[in-house]
Amino acid sequence: MTNSESAGQDYDVVISGAGPAGSAAAVLLARRGVRVALLERRSDPAAHKVLCTHSLTANAYPVLDELGLVPALEKAGAVRNQARWYTRWGWIEPRAAPAGPELPYAYNIRRSTLDPLIRSHAARTPGVDLLPGHRVTGLVREAGRTAGVRASTPQGDRTIRARLVVGADGKDSAVAKSAGVPARLYENTRFAYFAHFRHLPLPGGIGQTWFLEPDMAYAFPNDDGVTVIAVLPDKERLPAFREDLEGSFLAFVRALPEAPPIDSAERITKITGMVDHPLHSRRPIAPGVALIGDAALTGDPLWGVGCGWALQSAQWLAEAVAPAATGRGDLDRSLVVYARRHRRRLRGHQYLAADFAKARPFRPVERLMFSAAARDDSLARHMHLFASRLIGPLRFLNPAALAKASAVNVKHRGAAVIRGKGSSG
Ligand SMILES: Cc1cc2nc3c(=O)[nH]c(=O)nc-3n(C[C@H](O)[C@H](O)[C@H](O)COP(=O)(O)OP(=O)(O)OC[C@H]3O[C@@H](n4cnc5c(N)ncnc54)[C@H](O)[C@@H]3O)c2cc1C
Repeated sequence: MTNSESAGQDYDVVISGAGPAGSAAAVLLARRGVRVALLERRSDPAAHKVLCTHSLTANAYPVLDELGLVPALEKAGAVRNQARWYTRWGWIEPRAAPAGPELPYAYNIRRSTLDPLIRSHAARTPGVDLLPGHRVTGLVREAGRTAGVRASTPQGDRTIRARLVVGADGKDSAVAKSAGVPARLYENTRFAYFAHFRHLPLPGGIGQTWFLEPDMAYAFPNDDGVTVIAVLPDKERLPAFREDLEGSFLAFVRALPEAPPIDSAERITKITGMVDHPLHSRRPIAPGVALIGDAALTGDPLWGVGCGWALQSAQWLAEAVAPAATGRGDLDRSLVVYARRHRRRLRGHQYLAADFAKARPFRPVERLMFSAAARDDSLARHMHLFASRLIGPLRFLNPAALAKASAVNVKHRGAAVIRGKGSSG
């Protein structure tokens, strides 16, 4: 008899949602001796999230590595992500320092490849029972805490009891709603449309991002020779944009500086998107409940950080709760440890992203950092570390970095004045 059965549970942990967050958490918990039920509402093994542009920032790499997925991703054709960013001051082109280490990276990989890969990895992990076709519809409550889930399945409704219920069921999380965990919403005043293309070469074969103040766009090469292009204009443009969606999308892309050659490419998906995408934040714990991935925090798609944070939050949760989840420790205390880490690592990023989602002009500090990064390689690398979410806002905007950026800009202005004098004289 297992520890969980003896305590009246079917499993130690039940996870709602087998996307990146839920599948990663299942593997990382099970490897620590936790008995996991991984419930997924969809039955199709190929099921995947369609509304995603699937560039995984470099903060995802250590988790992918711990999961043991890096070789499988590379074999599946995942593209190591490198990108250059257009700004009105020129391109920011992060590259490794001459004798320095290579820049941290993760992968661009379509969700149709990633989701089945990570889910099947979870299903093969001893200690994980993947239960497809199980939609979580409510929670079992006992003595003021959650003690399991109710799920609808093709065979009828069932109850699964566990010490801990993990909501990894996305931004509209059924677990968060049933546990009464409210979401704090931040308006996003951009809308997004994207499509997949073949035969669309990009300069240097790497990702391109355009900061057009306030509009945004990006293009990323993915597995199987597919390039995704996304445009994220200010919502003020939405009524006119929608009048002719395809024409507007193509015109927007054609007008980009160093525009990708979209007219000679083959579009292989329809133009998909969303016009309303507020950012969400939820307290990631409640008695007997933990939230990970988008269920805890949904960022702004334009930064492409959601999958990385889904994987990282799964890792933080597994590290914090594994012993207590098997009955060897104080579960509530371990949940607080997880919540603190989640907050410490993500709150500042979400605060800045919510402010940037207002589609307002660049703030002075953004002008300073973006202009200097376009002019100086070490600041371009610094910006890459921030965009990869390997450093937080405080390190990104530390006094030494701000002083360096100011010095770069002063030097640039000085050089421009000398050039001006030279040409007039
Ligand atoms: C337009 C757009 C572009 C984006 N681009 C990027 C990008 O380039 N890079 C990036 O990193 N992120 C991007 N994101 C964000 C990214 O898609 C999410 O952050 C990521 O999918 C979160 O993973 P998750 O596992 O938490 O949730 P999900 O991927 O949403 O997975 C949730 C899983 O739970 C299942 N589920 C839901 N409800 C239930 C239930 N009641 N019972 C059982 N199962 C349930 C679902 O079927 C699904 O399998 C983008 C998002 C959008 C909207």
